[in-house]
Amino acid sequence: MTMEQDRWSRVKGRLRSSVGEDVYTSWFARMDLEGVQDESVRLSVPTRFLKSWIQAHYAERVLSCWQAEMPEVHRIDLTVRSAVRPVVPKEAPAPVEMRRTPTPELRSTATAPVSANHDALGGSPLDPRLTFASFVVGRSNTLAHAAARQVAEGRRGDPVMFNPLYIHAGVGLGKTHLLQAVTWAGNSGNERKVLYLTAEKFMYGFVAALKTQTALAFKEALRGIDVLVIDDLQFLQGKSTQAEFCHTLNALIDAGRQVVIAADRPPSDLESLDDRVRSRLAGGLVVEMGSLGEELRHGILKSRVAAARAHHATFEVPEEVLHYLARTITHNGRDLEGAINRLLAHSKLNNRPVTLEMAEHEVRDLVRPQEPKRIKIEDIQRVVARQYNVSRSDLLSSRRTANVVRPRQVAMYLAKTLTLRSLPEIGRRFGGRDHTTVLHAVRKIEALVSKDNALSEEVESLKRQLQE
Ligand code: ADP
Ligand code: MG
Repeated sequence: MTMEQDRWSRVKGRLRSSVGEDVYTSWFARMDLEGVQDESVRLSVPTRFLKSWIQAHYAERVLSCWQAEMPEVHRIDLTVRSAVRPVVPKEAPAPVEMRRTPTPELRSTATAPVSANHDALGGSPLDPRLTFASFVVGRSNTLAHAAARQVAEGRRGDPVMFNPLYIHAGVGLGKTHLLQAVTWAGNSGNERKVLYLTAEKFMYGFVAALKTQTALAFKEALRGIDVLVIDDLQFLQGKSTQAEFCHTLNALIDAGRQVVIAADRPPSDLESLDDRVRSRLAGGLVVEMGSLGEELRHGILKSRVAAARAHHATFEVPEEVLHYLARTITHNGRDLEGAINRLLAHSKLNNRPVTLEMAEHEVRDLVRPQEPKRIKIEDIQRVVARQYNVSRSDLLSSRRTANVVRPRQVAMYLAKTLTLRSLPEIGRRFGGRDHTTVLHAVRKIEALVSKDNALSEEVESLKRQLQE
């Protein structure tokens, strides 16, 4: 065994004991080491889905396991292995639900998430803390909250006001919280059957059901519910899953049942879904939740402290510390939660009151620059059109006069460089063009900006306008 492989097995050992056997086999068993270079480690997984799941949920965990073996490592690059390598067929492990794990110090005292009473179909576990009572309403989420409440308060047989309700927002802005709140509220009356599923659960549930020949039973069960809540829809992948999702959605909506969905992007940006599903999703109420303002962050911190005090009555966080945290931890709700957990752990373990100085020290790594703004293709089209004095429909049209061709190419170039959208998706969003046309435009502008100063400045100025 080489030294590198040896190290890798120790890292895997750490990961395994940190996340537990089930989670480990579900998500990491097929992760391979590609190489270590200076400060970065290259790892690979066989599918895009695994990659995005691991990145979204375990990036920090993987990094810290490496750092425990090799402190100099500062980066993990996760790639999708090409299919060229011989693939050893492995039975997919049984799905395991992810749950939010409190910091280890607190695990013994924190309430464990529990499954709601819908195991027959295997709904995803719910976190008892994520209710309407603990959801703080602010400017960026008023509409989403109101819509969610409306849905939660509906009764069996009531006409459905907006269907589906589609909520989108970046990471940590409260989507899961709101969806679980709807589920708790709906199920507590026990009058309606509300089922909360993550997109993975939907996929695995369905795939597993197919394997055991009970697809029909699964469909029947799914169609027998009053409210279907699906979280993280952007992870839904695979043709057969999508077809099934589409049927389910149509069946439920047509039967007047409520569907609630959350994703990290608007329906129009869900590239892997086909047009009919996309338009069906966009046909209800689509609400975006924006970033958390300082006031909202302050409110969330307060609500977290109050929740912690239910178990740790002596835990107190002075107002000046709350203000400091609300001002400096701007990133997302998860970091706010993390900050309170750390203060709690620290004050419990050392038996010391929380002070500003302690807070500054404990949360210093959570204070990070604001995540770059999510730029949308529509924004790019709007800003480019304005800059070049053409209309947005000119950009999407098939007109080929010079005064629209160049702006259109610039807009496609910006779409490729400032968003994560694929070439085919960009083509589709520019009036249904082929991906080769987009590629041509991207290359063209790339070549031009390196020679043409005026154009290069124009492009920079457009980027600034879009990013501010
Ligand atoms: P998302 O699903 O959008 O990534 P979550 O719902 O998991 O985000 O939220 C991340 C953390 O922030 C959770 O601890 C959640 O309770 C908290 N949070 C986010 N928004 C709010 C809010 N408006 N009120 C209370 N807590 C919130
Ligand atoms: Mg979530």
